[in-house]
Amino acid sequence: MTIAQRIEEVRKQLPTDVQLVVVSKFHSPEEIMEAYNAGIRDFGENHVQELLPKMEALPKDIRWHFVGSLQRNKIKLIVPFVSLIHSIGTLRLYEEVVNRAKSVNRCIDLLIEIHIGQEESKSGFSPEESLDFLREIASRDEDTPYRRIRGLMGMASLTDNKAQIRQEFALLKQLFDEAQVKHFTNTSHFDTLSMGMSSDWQEAVEEGSNLIRVGTYIMGERNYTPH
Ligand SMILES: *Cc1c(COP(=O)(O)O)cnc(C)c1O
Repeated sequence: MTIAQRIEEVRKQLPTDVQLVVVSKFHSPEEIMEAYNAGIRDFGENHVQELLPKMEALPKDIRWHFVGSLQRNKIKLIVPFVSLIHSIGTLRLYEEVVNRAKSVNRCIDLLIEIHIGQEESKSGFSPEESLDFLREIASRDEDTPYRRIRGLMGMASLTDNKAQIRQEFALLKQLFDEAQVKHFTNTSHFDTLSMGMSSDWQEAVEEGSNLIRVGTYIMGERNYTPH
């Protein structure tokens, strides 16, 4: 199947209120243009040094999503233009992003990453600490001109056990609902639950995701040699 056909296949199955972000890391600008020409405007990348040249070369109406672990010294490079950062996983990172947004006088959209999977390596706040963190940052009124906390992001375990995957997504959905009610009642923009990738986006949508991040399933296998 072509990229355009894959996009059509995913779109047909997505409820209208679920946003599709195509994760284009390690795919060439030409491949990205295939998805663009099929109507995609939201693309996700996870390396700043790969994102910058793509942003320069590709159409300006693309909304770039940053989905990977973000080094603090690279934040300033993406804050001026990035559409949504999905991976705020520490207080230090949050504060650095807000400082950078302030220095370019921009209001930036953020998701807080929650560690719902079993792999040690995955980053983000633990479910237990997440509500305290959200309460803390939600109360920082001085930050509100420079950031909007749009919601939560998480990655389920890499496993074939669909019941476990569903349980992890359900937990994230529960935290999202609880945070919305407890800490974001007076903002209308805490509205995004980013969960679901190539192998589990259908389960994610059934468990309440409203933004899926799909790479391989649409773009094909990633090419890890430079192009
Ligand atoms: C790479 C990546 C994806 C896409 O993964 P696929 O399995 O190729 O769909 C989604 N989310 C994050 C955070 C990623 O790093």
